[in-house]
Amino acid sequence: MPPDVLPLPPILVNEMGLIAGNLPCKGCSYNLRGLPIDSRCPTCATKIAISLEGEVAGDVPCRGCSYNLRGLPLDSKCPECAT
Ligand SMILES: [Zn+2]
Ligand SMILES: [Zn+2]
Repeated sequence: MPPDVLPLPPILVNEMGLIAGNLPCKGCSYNLRGLPIDSRCPTCATKIAISLEGEVAGDVPCRGCSYNLRGLPLDSKCPECAT
């Protein structure tokens, strides 16, 4: 089985760093889908990284090396490959 076949994480961040799943803003519940993870909510200016925290409870593969980033904030670096 190829190593890149992984179950979909609960929150998808695509290879361009955009939110690819439904993610409610922590501040106002606005759906942050399609926005870059390093930007802010367009309606209340809460950092999107803050809304992502606590949403990383599931299995999220590193985009660089497929290391399981479970439990890590999405704006931190991968401990394996520093992606
Ligand atoms: Zn908001
Ligand atoms: Zn990695």
